[in-house]
Amino acid sequence: MMSNGPILELRNVGKSFGSNRVLAGINLAVNAGEIVTLIGPSGSGKTTALRCMNFLEAYDEGEILIKGQLLGYSGTGRELKHRDGAGLIAEVRRPLAMVFQQFNLWPHLTVLENVCAPLVLGKKMSRDDARKKATAALAQVGMLEKAQARPARLSGGQQQRVGIARALALEPELLLLDEPTSALDPERVEEVLDVIKALANNGMTMVMVTHEMSFAAKISSRVVFMADGSVIESGAPATLFRQPQTERLKSFLAPWF
Ligand code: ADP
Repeated sequence: MMSNGPILELRNVGKSFGSNRVLAGINLAVNAGEIVTLIGPSGSGKTTALRCMNFLEAYDEGEILIKGQLLGYSGTGRELKHRDGAGLIAEVRRPLAMVFQQFNLWPHLTVLENVCAPLVLGKKMSRDDARKKATAALAQVGMLEKAQARPARLSGGQQQRVGIARALALEPELLLLDEPTSALDPERVEEVLDVIKALANNGMTMVMVTHEMSFAAKISSRVVFMADGSVIESGAPATLFRQPQTERLKSFLAPWF
């Protein structure tokens, strides 16, 4: 189905873990070409919001739409399913790919095999086609020469570049990045940010949770500040970082600006 609306839309999305209401009615729309960063104190629900967008967590209030199609639905119970079954959830979220904080590479597979696996297992691509796509994605992040290495032989920065290649090989229309540099040694952060910057320059649509404020200020088209499961402020980085409207955002930003 063609859709000219947002690639991703959250309407009043709520989520609880037991009695802890982690998301308290989030609204967000992401259009093609936008780079939206989620910032906010630890525990404010940023990662949970990102995981709900990809249905790695089921949300339990509101709606999430991907290219106009409902991702699951708000039923009466906590267990959220798509009314037409799990296969449709996989189909609806196909335009998305995710980069994880802890890379989540398989230790027993080579770099190339790690990037091929979702193509062969998820997309049912032939091994030859998968290898071609994976090779191109590894070249894009500068990791082709390590194609035959196992993850344990790589630095954290290199592992995360492989994690990014694995997501890119899926040719997503929207890339979700969950604190992609927070597990890295400080001297490895820059190489990963450079890869993300290059993707941004190529027009990749992204939603990223990050604690790298100066990076967020540079690459975002929109910054969303969350606290206690709610969006407190959002806007263009120049406005949001220079003219915070709320005391919460002012005090959150104080250490950086
Ligand atoms: P942030 O990314 O902003 O640091 P999170 O989304 O990781 O926030 O966490 C928000 C809240 O949800 C925290 O209170 C956290 O303890 C809780 N939480 C996250 N994941 C789970 C889970 N799987 N089970 C129970 N509580 C969780």
